[in-house]
Amino acid sequence: MSEFKQKVKQKVKHKVKQKVKQKVKQKVKQHTMSIITLGTKGNIKERCPFYSNHSGVLIDSTLLLDFGEKKFLRHHPKAILITHLHPDHACFMLEDISKINCPIYGPSAFENGKLVSIIKKPKKIGEFKITPIPTIHSFKIPSQGYLLEGKGKKIFYSGDIITIEKAHLKKMKQVDVVITEASFIRRGGMIRKFDSQISGHNGVSELIKLFRPFTKRIIFIHFGSWFVVDIKEGKKTIKALADETLITETGYDGKEFLI
Ligand SMILES: [Zn+2]
Ligand SMILES: [Zn+2]
Repeated sequence: MSEFKQKVKQKVKHKVKQKVKQKVKQKVKQHTMSIITLGTKGNIKERCPFYSNHSGVLIDSTLLLDFGEKKFLRHHPKAILITHLHPDHACFMLEDISKINCPIYGPSAFENGKLVSIIKKPKKIGEFKITPIPTIHSFKIPSQGYLLEGKGKKIFYSGDIITIEKAHLKKMKQVDVVITEASFIRRGGMIRKFDSQISGHNGVSELIKLFRPFTKRIIFIHFGSWFVVDIKEGKKTIKALADETLITETGYDGKEFLI
């Protein structure tokens, strides 16, 4: 074979290889869900690198769960889902944000529904089915987590939470991942009682108990002071809560999980 023919053959071979590689990549992309924990800081004063943004989780570059920082808009989400109207989950409560080009949904309206419209029933956004599930967090305002189904994957994002009422727990499904909060590591978290109502955050171990029946993997974000004072130790503590049937992980600002 001439040198020229050999070179052509090699070029064709290389092109075919690249095309196969690209097709495999595309297939993996079609069936992989990307979860980026954009903000993992709880409602605390401490500042520390990688845990300095308030709540925000970006799903497949299209959905933003909670809106703790204005800068999350640079990811151009198609829709934003707010778990509750506390500023560390809804930055527009403190900052003036005039240029938002996507709808914002939540458990209660803001600015008469001009900025946040109420979502109570399942809704399709892009290729995802969203099911709001009411949570107990604050006695002053309603809150809800979101069950997301799409690309053959299911996840649940809780936001701040004490628990979920039995009647609403029925809506939960077996999910690939639960993303929840870690404000308090101590038993019982920080829960205040007002007559028959409760308000606050549950402890990490109680949240594991709540979600264990629905998942084999929990990612913790929204870290409290206990975590940021010694991050290495904090990560270890969360990891140690895993066992043969449950993986426990920690996010940080900008960390991507592929499921
Ligand atoms: Zn919070
Ligand atoms: Zn809150």
